Amino acid sequence: MGDKTYLEWPFFDARHAVLERELDAWAAQHIAQQHEADVDAACRHLVRQLGDGGWLKHAIAGAAYGAMGEGIDTRAICLIRETLARHNGLADFAFAMQGLGSGAISLHGTAAQREAYLPRVARGDAIAAFALSEPQAGSDVAAMQCAAVRDGDHYVLNGEKTWISNGGIADFYVVFARTGEQPGARGISAFIVDAGTPGFAIAERIQVIAPHPLARLAFSDCRIPAAQRIGEAGQGFKVAMSTLDVFRTSVAAAALGFARRALDEALAHATQRKMFGQALSDFQMTQAKLAQMATGIDAAALLTYRAAWQRDQGRNVTREAAMAKMTATETAQQVIDAALQMFGGLGVVSEQPVERLYREIRALRIYEGATEVQQLIIARELLRAANTKEQ
Ligand SMILES: Cc1cc2nc3c(=O)[nH]c(=O)nc-3n(C[C@H](O)[C@H](O)[C@H](O)COP(=O)(O)OP(=O)(O)OC[C@H]3O[C@@H](n4cnc5c(N)ncnc54)[C@H](O)[C@@H]3O)c2cc1C
Repeated sequence: MGDKTYLEWPFFDARHAVLERELDAWAAQHIAQQHEADVDAACRHLVRQLGDGGWLKHAIAGAAYGAMGEGIDTRAICLIRETLARHNGLADFAFAMQGLGSGAISLHGTAAQREAYLPRVARGDAIAAFALSEPQAGSDVAAMQCAAVRDGDHYVLNGEKTWISNGGIADFYVVFARTGEQPGARGISAFIVDAGTPGFAIAERIQVIAPHPLARLAFSDCRIPAAQRIGEAGQGFKVAMSTLDVFRTSVAAAALGFARRALDEALAHATQRKMFGQALSDFQMTQAKLAQMATGIDAAALLTYRAAWQRDQGRNVTREAAMAKMTATETAQQVIDAALQMFGGLGVVSEQPVERLYREIRALRIYEGATEVQQLIIARELLRAANTKEQ
């Protein structure tokens, strides 16, 4: 892989460059480039490998529970996602979901909940999932209908969740359901639901363009002990948003990894492909494209690591994370498309690296808040600041 001088940027501490170098070497040795036919088995295997390699320690918080540190080091999870995405999209997915799926427990769980789940997540013994979206509540999360009704020392869950990554292979799911303390976003709570709990079923497996385990979940009179609730009743929306605040910046980092890989592939191809008596890279039109790609990647990287660094300073990153996610995912799509174009017919051949990247990047512009949702967040923050100044 090309230029790594960005690791010298002031956003990073010395340990971050070491982490990137070690993971890069580990990934080159341990994770295959190709997509496996059995995506469930491939994903389980990757979680196990990432656990054995010690990388999942970064995905959780709390040294007593097997984490690298007391909090989640945002720059570390970004570098890990970027590096894994450069090697293998499914490895990035496996890492990210261990973090996102257990993030609510890391951030808001009781000591008993942390003890029961986090060490297993860090070792790769338990696979995690994050179940927020519903058929009628995607971008508009607060419209969720899946309900949890208190019944003595239990809650009874009824309803559906969809687009749930790791659905079908997860050992536990952090599920958000309406508990009705107040209308809308203030009447939602978070629960840990173990796979195999009676009344909980995988209703449908969903196939997507870059295959990974994905499912629709159904709850039918599913009884969950009240001790499985994460945080206060009615605070589930905050639990979800604070979890997403940590991991949204890491989606930008994954996009960055895909984009860097595409640029590497494009450079290698353009310099060796001969046409009209010279190399493809000798043409100024190709050079303009390469310049655009490299500049877009650096701009996205600056926004990504600015947001990660700012969060690690303990500051709010709502606006910065949205800017990073929007810019990195949209830029990566353009970079990958430009790389594919340079490959000509080879670019659309199944399982060629650029063909895979072209499929891998697409969903990142949609999940954890589509680009349009990020635009709304950025504008809301800007207008709030402007209105406060006026008063
Ligand atoms: C591969 C994949 C994995 C996923 N994994 C998970 C998971 O693990 N857990 C989970 O809970 N969810 C997951 N999701 C769901 C994801 O978060 C939702 O798909 C996303 O929030 C969008 O919701 P939706 O699909 O219902 O689209 P909709 O909400 O119907 O939005 C459709 C489109 O409308 C546009 N739009 C949205 N808001 C506005 C607006 N205000 N103004 C103008 N245009 C707008 C956007 O372009 C958006 O893409 C996953 C999705 C995918 C594709």
